[in-house]
Amino acid sequence: SYEWSDDVKSTLENIFKIKSFRPKQLSAINSTLSGEHAIVVMPTGAGKSLCYQLPALLRPGLTVVVSPLISLMEDQIRSLTQKNIPAMLMCSTSSKDENQTALKTLTDDKTDIKLLYVTPERFAKSKRFMSNLQKCHAAGRLQRFAIDEVHCCSQWGHDFRPDYKFLGILSNMFPKVPILGLTGTATSHVLSDVQKILNIPGCLVLKTTFNRPNLFYQILEKPATQEGCLDVLEKLLKYRYKDESGIIYAHSIKDCEDLAQGLRKRGLRVGCYHASLDADTRSKVHQKWHEKIYQAIVATVAFGMGIDKPDVRFVIHHSISKTMENYYQESGRAGRDGLRAECVTLYRMQDLFRVSTMVFSNNGHLEQLYGMIKYCLNVKVCRRQVVAEYFNENWGNTDCNYMCDVCIHPNKIIREIRLEEHIKNL
Ligand code: ADP
Ligand code: MG
Ligand code: ZN
Repeated sequence: SYEWSDDVKSTLENIFKIKSFRPKQLSAINSTLSGEHAIVVMPTGAGKSLCYQLPALLRPGLTVVVSPLISLMEDQIRSLTQKNIPAMLMCSTSSKDENQTALKTLTDDKTDIKLLYVTPERFAKSKRFMSNLQKCHAAGRLQRFAIDEVHCCSQWGHDFRPDYKFLGILSNMFPKVPILGLTGTATSHVLSDVQKILNIPGCLVLKTTFNRPNLFYQILEKPATQEGCLDVLEKLLKYRYKDESGIIYAHSIKDCEDLAQGLRKRGLRVGCYHASLDADTRSKVHQKWHEKIYQAIVATVAFGMGIDKPDVRFVIHHSISKTMENYYQESGRAGRDGLRAECVTLYRMQDLFRVSTMVFSNNGHLEQLYGMIKYCLNVKVCRRQVVAEYFNENWGNTDCNYMCDVCIHPNKIIREIRLEEHIKNL
């Protein structure tokens, strides 16, 4: 028990209206309140935000939260405002007035703002911001830095953002201010890289299991032709996933558009999402999917961070992901509500060659590619076990509970797509 333990408990119940902590949340809160640097590693949806939002309320002063996306910051501000927690954000799209006000909170010891959200480029590109931050620190009002999606520091992560590299100066400029990094990326490679970049080597790492017991994993044999693929997708969407929402990931923009068009011709309601659509179109597609006007979105990996639909019942990979890390993140968008959801990969040998050529020519991520290859070629070992090994975890064989194709058919996994049978079997 710590001097702040009673306050932690009452804040959890009265402000956040939460009865009990999930794994590692309390450890994270205690370590950051003790002034230690720490990195919290939990799968998406596990509750990382609470680990810095709650401590922010316990003491006078500011928590500066670094976040890579304006939409993520806006979601957070919205949910904090609902709880009557004063918070602000500062970014390139804020008005001049808003940014002025945000800048002032740094030097105003009368402000009631507890959390200030900023994008990482502030630290390199805004002198005003940095000098106010120093004033805030000098006045003893800089409580801590929370760095969300902290894997963005590392080129080994699945979502490298160059601006995150600037954050390395924080531990030198503000040596007594604790840093709390948060990420859903669990590979040890990425974590040690993040520690190096942030200059917090050997800091406390609080990691929960990455097992998602409600996700069913399956590999289906991918037909040789696009028409064949469309047949499979059509059957999946019309029968197995009737009236349910999901995502179909495709390798390229062209694949995306072709598949979406093909599925529409077959009477399915699907949207298309990729980086070459303008922001307005993308947000409309996203919205229609939320409203269930679209059953599925056919997307490239550009459809990713910031998806907050809890009832995604299926994620189908029309082509395998580039690395196991990417696969875990992409498929992990299914079943955030904790109910059963399915992660199906259409796999054929040619796709492995295509991806490996790509990875080789960009010269990197080989280990991570091997993880993906192992997952696809595997016919004997429980698929969760393969994922667990990749994350250096041990989930135990018994945990699967028939939630992967290998465990359902231990002697011969059924990869042919006699789908009517599949529907009955599963
Ligand atoms: P992450 O950042 O890890 O993806 P979030 O911080 O966005 O996850 O939290 C996901 C959801 O879980 C939020 O709706 C949050 O209110 C909820 N949550 C967090 N911690 C708890 C808890 N201990 N008990 C119940 N719900 C929680
Ligand atoms: Mg989060
Ligand atoms: Zn299994």
